[in-house]
Amino acid sequence: MSAANLPSDARINPMRLGNNSRFQFKCHPGVSCFTQCCRGINIILTPYDIIRLKTRLGLPSDEFLAIYTEPHLLEKTDLPMVTLKQLDDEQSSCPFVRDGEGCIIYEDRPTACRYYPLGVAALQHKEGADDEGFFFFIHEPHCKGFEENNEWSVAEWRQDQGVDLRDQINAAWTDLVVRKRSFPPNIQLTEQAKKMFFMVSYNIDPFRQFVFESSFLKRMPVDEATVEKLKTDDVALLTFGIDWLKGLLFKQSNPQA
Ligand code: SF4
Ligand code: SF4
Repeated sequence: MSAANLPSDARINPMRLGNNSRFQFKCHPGVSCFTQCCRGINIILTPYDIIRLKTRLGLPSDEFLAIYTEPHLLEKTDLPMVTLKQLDDEQSSCPFVRDGEGCIIYEDRPTACRYYPLGVAALQHKEGADDEGFFFFIHEPHCKGFEENNEWSVAEWRQDQGVDLRDQINAAWTDLVVRKRSFPPNIQLTEQAKKMFFMVSYNIDPFRQFVFESSFLKRMPVDEATVEKLKTDDVALLTFGIDWLKGLLFKQSNPQA
């Protein structure tokens, strides 16, 4: 599939979908709209998306962020987020789309591209977003995929597109974002806390430097096997960092938590 998330002309279908909901859809290079959904788009990147993309491109995370992303604040959370930076062409294309060829990083495409034509409520501020398994349709007028006759349940689609694994890896991060969103607006994070959230979530290579080149490991007891793993395993470092962040953010924001 060549896909995107939340394009400017998208109509969000408010129908609430669960894992067993069914829909008809197929995307393939033969559709007349091929690659149209990869232009004029706003794709939120998850931490695991960034790990996959920077590895695919052979870039350190800070270079990947500088070249390919734009920073934002995630609505209602005051937390930093990043989106894929569009090209400065007429169609505001995704940097990874090629005419006729489609997505050149297909195996490592972001989670939002995999979910399309579904959106995931947890990161899109829909009512009930805290509920597990809440999805909705993103309808773009140009998308012909709904006219094809392949039928899927949401669960089948998620498995086919490989989002189950991604959701599993991102779960603790998503929980953290959703939990922060439930805080009263007057509870603000310090700039330092936001910087830490950004570094752990998106800029994993400097986070590794922070862990190994500061007094971090002297202040925080971590067993030797874990320390060895954190030296080279980005996903293990992300999981460790999110766990650490939870303590940091929620202790300072809500001493009763
Ligand atoms: S990453 Fe790939 S699938 Fe996603 S919008 Fe870009 S070209 Fe399309
Ligand atoms: S069918 Fe939909 S998802 Fe597939 S290329 Fe066309 S617009 Fe994109």
